[in-house]
Amino acid sequence: MLEGKSAIVTGSSSGIGLGIARAFAAHGADVLLNGFGDAEQIEATRAGLEGEYGVRVRYSPADMSQPCQVREMAEFAASEFGKVDVIVNNAGIQHVAPTEEMPDDKWDAIVAINLSSAFHLIKAVLPGMKARRWGRIINIASAHGLVASPFKAPYVAAKHGLIGLSKAVALETAEFGITSNTICPGYVKTPLVEQQIADQARAHRISPADVVRDVLLVHQARKEFVRIDELAVLALFLASDNSASMTATALAMDGGWTQH
Ligand code: NAD
Repeated sequence: MLEGKSAIVTGSSSGIGLGIARAFAAHGADVLLNGFGDAEQIEATRAGLEGEYGVRVRYSPADMSQPCQVREMAEFAASEFGKVDVIVNNAGIQHVAPTEEMPDDKWDAIVAINLSSAFHLIKAVLPGMKARRWGRIINIASAHGLVASPFKAPYVAAKHGLIGLSKAVALETAEFGITSNTICPGYVKTPLVEQQIADQARAHRISPADVVRDVLLVHQARKEFVRIDELAVLALFLASDNSASMTATALAMDGGWTQH
């Protein structure tokens, strides 16, 4: 489905990003991995994807909070693969606290990583996409890009902003064969959420199972976590030629959460 294409997936050393990178590689795309983690484990993942799917897989340790590193990552991908056809702005962090207690540096980091990095990467790859008249921009926001929850002000603000950024870019680039869309997942059981389960269990003095049922999935009508492979298939569709007319959308995959 993506033979001959090349993609950057930010924050793909773990969780949703890794699932999307794997799906892209499995469908023939060269992929640039990015994100933090154990160097040996990341190299094993990179080499494993390359061996399994016979595509080029590279890794950039670029810190998405640093605009110059975002730009260098885009240049690295273009030099390794010859072009960048697809980007997935997925890297993200979370911090949960009442707004008046939210540390300033957490606000800055969440906005930089979850929102501004997408702007810098889009800006870096657009000239090439426009010149080739083909591009796919996929942004991983959240149900929190569509609705709010308390104690997550920077995350909610950044994810709402990411949807706005995606829509503006979509309108600007629609006549160049470029689409820009946002995926809004409900809760997915990844390291990002496992940390929240532990934190909330401590804060509320309830069991992790009660946190999942009564806090995390309380609005997720299906009462189950969204699966990474479901999100990967949606990203694959958005990256393909089949989605050429779908742009400027924010697609919820949230078990019904945002329709309450
Ligand atoms: P995760 O913690 O498993 O993965 C996050 C990835 O981002 C990791 O690869 C990490 O190394 C990387 N990362 C963090 N800071 C970075 C930085 N400064 N520079 C480069 N990479 C960085 O989390 P996840 O759940 O897979 O989250 C992926 C995306 O999905 C995030 O944007 C998150 O907000 C979003 N999301 C997650 C859920 C969920 O329930 N897990 C729900 C909705 C949206």
